[in-house]
Amino acid sequence: AWSELCPSPAALLGAGVDAPKPASAELFALREAHLAGPQKNYYETPPQMERGWKEHMFDVEGRAYLDMLNNVTILGHGHPRLAEAISEQWLRLNTNSRFHYTAIAEFSERLASLAPEGLEAVFLVNSGSEANDLALRLAWAHTGAKPMLSLLEAYHGWSVASDAVSTSIADNPQALTTRPDWVHAVLSPNTYRGAFRGSESTTGYLDAVVEVLEAIDAKGEGLAGFIAEPVYGNAGGISLPDGFLAAVYGQIRARGGVCIADEVQVGYGRLGHHFWGFEQQGAIPDIITIAKGMGDGHPLGAVITTRAIAGSLEKEGYFFSSTGGSPVSCVAGMTVLDIMADERLQENARDVGDHLKGRLVALIERHPIVGAVHGMGLYLGLELVRDRTTLEPATEETAAICSRLLDLGILVQPTGDHLNVLKIKPPLCLTVDSADFFVDMLEKVLSEGW
Ligand code: PLP
Repeated sequence: AWSELCPSPAALLGAGVDAPKPASAELFALREAHLAGPQKNYYETPPQMERGWKEHMFDVEGRAYLDMLNNVTILGHGHPRLAEAISEQWLRLNTNSRFHYTAIAEFSERLASLAPEGLEAVFLVNSGSEANDLALRLAWAHTGAKPMLSLLEAYHGWSVASDAVSTSIADNPQALTTRPDWVHAVLSPNTYRGAFRGSESTTGYLDAVVEVLEAIDAKGEGLAGFIAEPVYGNAGGISLPDGFLAAVYGQIRARGGVCIADEVQVGYGRLGHHFWGFEQQGAIPDIITIAKGMGDGHPLGAVITTRAIAGSLEKEGYFFSSTGGSPVSCVAGMTVLDIMADERLQENARDVGDHLKGRLVALIERHPIVGAVHGMGLYLGLELVRDRTTLEPATEETAAICSRLLDLGILVQPTGDHLNVLKIKPPLCLTVDSADFFVDMLEKVLSEGW
């Protein structure tokens, strides 16, 4: 049972674990009654979380869970230094971002200094969807053209424009039929399954891209650009083939388009070996979008681009966000960067991620259902298949394994258009012990059945 395997909240938090709270079922009923919208949660009756500490969360009944699916809280839950910085700034000043204050100047400069040379103009927003919408508007304003290329199976957000370039069938089953006509999606360069299975050269993918681009050329409406994650997140953290991004960027730029790297999920140190996903590809985008971890869960997003691209929005209108880059958000963002540096979290993502990946890869030999391990650092995908030749996705098995892991106190969920990839994205403070606990429990489930 989980209680024997997981550390108790008391063991992790010391004294001061609160008295019992309302039962999960009662809270779940309240949530069902009043929380609107299909708030996507994979679990039918999700645990009702009450507190967090480092890579663990605790539900209202005091159960501990190892959080392997959180790509928002990158520092780990409940970081006291971040809490102090936010509350101190809140007491000092928080206001509409139309005012001028120290934190917004300092934080913009910090973000620009993290980006490649020439990307020095920063817009601050509240989420990844907003950042991608703004990036698309910038591309439209800069090029005067509307057509945009994206990858099939991508997810870029839920707002109107970011949703339009999201063609992930798992996240939005209507995506393929409801795309507006300015969106042109090209087959994803997935080397594990699909049309490009086993392909080692980028030629095939590039041919597919060029075919779509030539169809866009033929319409004579120009090209606004290309948006993609530099690591193929939604399919389960699949690395793009070497040189793919740089080659596509070349094709886009030759047509006057701009290249947008969506780093919302994979950027900001998560890959361990690189701060940005595009570094792995040796490609430099014109626009970077970030969110999620940059505020460690505090709503914060940003677009980093060139002065020329940023300036072109002035032709089209203006940019304004009341709370994007508020004093509290900026202090949160700067403190996250300070903590990441002081606690060497990117290096931890690299070292613990390498260890974890090594242990997951070893499962391939022992368990036929484990087809492949994708990704790097603390952004990994374990793809489960019924047959290694046909690659038939083990969708139901993946769901059952996740439920069994939940019983054992581990939070991890399926991703990919076949929902057969365990997407592993814990806080960057994950320890080797917690990584080992996760693999031990996974192997227990794989060996004993689910
Ligand atoms: N881009 C990517 C790659 C994402 O994974 C997400 C969220 O899952 C978004 C954009 C949208 O970010 P947000 O949920 O903060 O709007």
